[in-house]
Amino acid sequence: MLYLILAFIGALLFLIGACFFSFLNVVVWRTPRKESLVHGRSHCPVCGRVLTAWELVPCFSFLALRGKCYGCGAKIPVRDFWVEVLGGVLFLACNVHFGLMTGRALLSFALLFILTVVALMDWDTMEIYDRFHVMILGCAALSLWLFPEITLMERLIGCLCVSAPMFALAMIVPGGFGGGDIKLMFALGAYLGWKNTLLAAFFGVVSGGLYAVMLLRKKKAGRKDQFAFGPFLCTGAAAAIFFGQPILQWYLSLWQI
Ligand SMILES: [Zn+2]
Repeated sequence: MLYLILAFIGALLFLIGACFFSFLNVVVWRTPRKESLVHGRSHCPVCGRVLTAWELVPCFSFLALRGKCYGCGAKIPVRDFWVEVLGGVLFLACNVHFGLMTGRALLSFALLFILTVVALMDWDTMEIYDRFHVMILGCAALSLWLFPEITLMERLIGCLCVSAPMFALAMIVPGGFGGGDIKLMFALGAYLGWKNTLLAAFFGVVSGGLYAVMLLRKKKAGRKDQFAFGPFLCTGAAAAIFFGQPILQWYLSLWQI
């Protein structure tokens, strides 16, 4: 019986997260096109047909429709489906990791929501809007209260420990980093504190570097080509949110022989 209840709660949490990230897909689609987020019902971008209620159920409607618009048969991007799955997994993970429906869980999920928007929009448009940096700073202000173990000093150092070297590097090598990436690491530093910010940057550089090598190998990009770095920094930050503590403890234990 206990397992049944746990499975039910898990499924419910997954569905809530998927609903939020279903809305996230709308944000990522509409913001660069300057469409309103609140006005205008969800519609098929090809035929313009307004979606019915059951088509708004995340994940399942995509599977039921086999990835096609019910009206015109246009393909629904597979990415939208996986983003909804990601939302479900992240909401579940936040509630397991930070406690069921605690302020810490909800704030972490809010930050992951913003990071996913930033990552997808940067991937699509190579641009990170300032409003998202401000939202991350808003989360950081709340985390000062919900994550008091990260002191104000650690946060202030966090703001600069990665963004300042990135800024210096951008001055020396023009076009090395975008201003959006630098501001992103500044805002994330205020949320994460300097230890997790360094970890997030490390994960970001390693994963971004691997991706760049892969592109060069496939000869899809030349040495001078640019790619969006934001998604990798966001992935690094997400990894730091969940695994920062154990990784840092393990790392420090290496030095205490
Ligand atoms: Zn359609």
